[in-house]
Amino acid sequence: MDEKERNQGIETEMDLDEDEKENEQDYEKICYMCRRPESKAGSMIVMPGNMNLCHDCMQKAFDSVVGGNLDLSKIDFSQLSGMPFMNLNFVPTGNSEEEAAKMQIPRRQQVKKKKKENAGPAFERKDIPAPHIIKRRLDEYVIGQERAKKVISVAVYNHYKRIYAESIKRMKKGTEKEETEEVTIEKSNILIIGPTGSGKTYLVRTLARLLDVPLAIADATSLTEAGYIGDDIESVLSKLLAAAGNDVERAEHGIIFIDEIDKIAKKRETNTRDVSGESVQQELLKLLEGSRVEVPVGSNQKNALTPLKTVNTDHILFICGGAFPDLEKIIRERLTKTSSMGFGAELKNKYEEEPDILHHVTNKDLREFGMIPEFLGRLPVTVTLQRLTEDLLVKILREPKNAILKQYEKLLEMDEVKLVFEDEALEWIAKEAIKRDTGARALRAILEEYMLDIMYEIPKDPNIGSVVVTRPYLEKTGGPRIQMREL
Ligand code: ADP
Repeated sequence: MDEKERNQGIETEMDLDEDEKENEQDYEKICYMCRRPESKAGSMIVMPGNMNLCHDCMQKAFDSVVGGNLDLSKIDFSQLSGMPFMNLNFVPTGNSEEEAAKMQIPRRQQVKKKKKENAGPAFERKDIPAPHIIKRRLDEYVIGQERAKKVISVAVYNHYKRIYAESIKRMKKGTEKEETEEVTIEKSNILIIGPTGSGKTYLVRTLARLLDVPLAIADATSLTEAGYIGDDIESVLSKLLAAAGNDVERAEHGIIFIDEIDKIAKKRETNTRDVSGESVQQELLKLLEGSRVEVPVGSNQKNALTPLKTVNTDHILFICGGAFPDLEKIIRERLTKTSSMGFGAELKNKYEEEPDILHHVTNKDLREFGMIPEFLGRLPVTVTLQRLTEDLLVKILREPKNAILKQYEKLLEMDEVKLVFEDEALEWIAKEAIKRDTGARALRAILEEYMLDIMYEIPKDPNIGSVVVTRPYLEKTGGPRIQMREL
């Protein structure tokens, strides 16, 4: 810095080190004419060459032209040093660094925007909902999966307490980098394991909505290492930033859900080096660990034209999800191997038939599946979802706040028609969904298939008062029961 100051006493952008450059957006724009910063003069009009003008000066310039008072001949442009765009005597030297230096306003004349980081936490301690409240809210939407909801509620509660504790610590110390001897709370990123359609994405979406935090969902299979075709890892942050309305601070408290994480497992039982899966896991690690990443705003491509913002991933809650096919086999094998050493066949059979075998998963099983240990280390909370049973599927049709049946009922209500589903009809739908083996996802598909005719025919006749969907209608051996309005 001393040397720089000796060099004409001007600090230019060229002189800034990487860290400072990152914080370019921390400085206010300054009017080139009156030199007032944004906070005093209001928003700036950006002119070519990064020259900013406040509205007052712009107006004055217009007034003088329109009023005919501007006498350009009386202005000595050569005196306007430091304003090369106004200085008609400015001769390009060919040295771009030198020119750029002249065009910059010296750093120490600039005004730093009020820093939010040390201003205190972005939310109050009392604003963090307690686990039982988070769970109760999840219950309104997500049926079953009791244990998973409990684990997630606690993890999320801890996550936001951790953010709160760190912002308080930073506020006290005044600087982020300072070493402290206080206990640091580890991040509680979550791994959700569950069959297709068991509600992984739904759970995360519901959570983000209830907490009112931005959410970005990405598919691990579309993520590639930087430089390869596909979305690179940063594009996930871009999505989050967009979901947060380009507000970096809001994005930094958001949630990123990476689905199909099992698809980037190392290939098992091969000796050849597997490049794609393992290396994407390595790249993701950087995000999970917490790092500062330059993210293109409003696009998922980094190029010269897209502005960049720095996002710190340290406070972002990462949730990874996957169906992990064959994991059940790995767990079962491990359990039967250990049990057959001691207690023989009885226990072995128990595990063969246990429906919720995923619940017994350990890190070792996941490693055997092909997840790298460092990656697993960054996802300390593991949640398993159960395969949905017939009973649960019926409940899913009927009970959540935005249940599919409620949606159909509402649609027909607008035609003043009452829609009723017989219990047997619902059981039939649940059975059919289980056959399709796509979990609750099948429910909507089935209903759409069968409701199409009803939704098409009913509005034709304004005298229809109610429709009962019966099991024979679904089995194609009868029709829905229709009642006319009483006149
Ligand atoms: P996954 O991500 O596990 O493959 P999804 O979360 O996409 O499954 O679930 C598909 C749909 O099924 C969701 O949009 C939701 O409507 C419904 N669904 C799944 N599980 C549940 C559940 N436990 N409670 C209520 N609805 C559910």
